[in-house]
Amino acid sequence: MPPQAYDIITVGGGIAAAAFARAMSQRGARVLILEKETRFRDRVRGEGTVPWGVAEARELGLLELLRADCAHNVPFVEGGMGPRDTRSTTPQGLPTLTFAHQEMQETLLAAAENAGAQVRRGVTVEQIEPGATPAVVVNGGKCERITARLLVAADGRGAPSRKWVGFTVAEQMHDYYMAGVLLCDVASPPDTMYFVFNPQFGMCIGLIPIGKNRQRAYYMYPKTMEYRLQGTQMLDLFFRESARCYAPLAGYYAAAKCIGPLASFDVSELWVEHPYRDGVVLMGDAACTSDPTYGQGLSFALRGARVLRDELTANPDWTAAANRYAEKHRRWRGACCTVEGWFRTLFQDPSSQSAALREKAMPLIAEDPTRVPDHILSGPELPVNDEVRARFFGEC
Ligand SMILES: Cc1cc2nc3c(=O)[nH]c(=O)nc-3n(C[C@H](O)[C@H](O)[C@H](O)COP(=O)(O)OP(=O)(O)OC[C@H]3O[C@@H](n4cnc5c(N)ncnc54)[C@H](O)[C@@H]3O)c2cc1C
Repeated sequence: MPPQAYDIITVGGGIAAAAFARAMSQRGARVLILEKETRFRDRVRGEGTVPWGVAEARELGLLELLRADCAHNVPFVEGGMGPRDTRSTTPQGLPTLTFAHQEMQETLLAAAENAGAQVRRGVTVEQIEPGATPAVVVNGGKCERITARLLVAADGRGAPSRKWVGFTVAEQMHDYYMAGVLLCDVASPPDTMYFVFNPQFGMCIGLIPIGKNRQRAYYMYPKTMEYRLQGTQMLDLFFRESARCYAPLAGYYAAAKCIGPLASFDVSELWVEHPYRDGVVLMGDAACTSDPTYGQGLSFALRGARVLRDELTANPDWTAAANRYAEKHRRWRGACCTVEGWFRTLFQDPSSQSAALREKAMPLIAEDPTRVPDHILSGPELPVNDEVRARFFGEC
């Protein structure tokens, strides 16, 4: 096949690239996926897709495929005040969808290939040349240059594609680490995802059942602690500190065994305001590496795949279509990340200023929990304005 025979090349074959490549192949586009890994392995990565992202998976025709192959419905979310059933309390009427990340990646990449995309694995993109006919340079033993009508760079956290193409990257530092590990034999209910803050210590925990007796356990903590949780030799400390944050975990973890790496991440955000230029679209984490504490990354990736598919399908002018995608991306990223900032102030920050804000806000929230904006589960279409903010902080 001559190299210019592609409509679209994706850099990467993760959730964003594979979901998008499959969708465009189904619409007749000639798509090439370039993925550097020959086999996906367990990494500490997103494994809980919140209801608004599950609705995106459904729009892309991926929901039943994922459920049949590797995914699980988790209907309840426990935030520390009793379980909430998202099937009856979100506009989408859907549960959270969970999976082992690497199993989801294999499922979606195979689905893209079945839909007609060409998949090349073990191929690392080493450069992108933007322009009217954008190109990638790959190295699989020899240098190769491949062109397409549109490049979609979905190369994940730290994406070098942003630099190659000359995008301006915005950064918001956060004062927390997020540690995660894969466990089995956790004694918590398998139909409940946990996401509990402890503002007194600036801590937060997450617990996501992903099926086959496995749970992904998370613990978020301030950078001022004198440890960085890295390596399974620190598992006891991970368990102790998690239980200090949320006491029921002591019982849940009593017989738990570690079955994957323990790693921790800086949760600072990186994003590009307008993730399109010169024939190159950024998608997924490459467009916005959001704070993983709030579990929006998989939903952003699926939203990106669906919106770009719709824009390219509706508009034969792909430059205009990609610019519309980028504008929509700016809005949905902005909505979710603004609300996350409010949460960080009220629920995570252990400072005396935030404690004073909590003194005012928490009794009102206890009386009326609808004061808490629900964007994290229900999505960026909910309003974000001064009134929503003021209700949350108990100012009105
Ligand atoms: C600790 C942690 C916990 C998280 N928890 C959640 C959660 O609960 N819920 C949630 O929604 N999100 C969560 N996220 C975020 C979520 O994992 C990401 O948003 C999501 O995986 C992004 O998908 P992606 O396809 O954009 O990137 P990736 O999944 O990183 O995929 C990028 C792909 O590109 C390939 N690649 C990279 N460079 C090249 C190259 N040069 N050439 C070829 N291939 C290349 C990589 O091998 C990879 O397969 C979490 C993230 C972290 C770090």
